[in-house]
Amino acid sequence: MNAELVLAIIAVAAVWIGCLYLAPFGRCPKCQGTGHIRRGKGRVKVCPRCKGRRRVQRLGSRTVHRAAFKIRDGQRAPAKYQEDSDGDT
Ligand SMILES: [Zn+2]
Repeated sequence: MNAELVLAIIAVAAVWIGCLYLAPFGRCPKCQGTGHIRRGKGRVKVCPRCKGRRRVQRLGSRTVHRAAFKIRDGQRAPAKYQEDSDGDT
């Protein structure tokens, strides 16, 4: 595996994660974003996948948000610890 390919994969992954973070919900693939599916002659049924909401949470978006929250929490923790130690002395 060459370095350019690895960099390309990393770049694609970074863009994909960024998209997941900014847009965690995507159009429902089952009903094509209509909220219901057609069954036979004019019979319309509420989409079982999105339950009529027309949008579904994209795969991995929950993981991305959890990781982002962990990073933010990790940055805040040392500052709080320093404040606490100053207060004691
Ligand atoms: Zn749907």
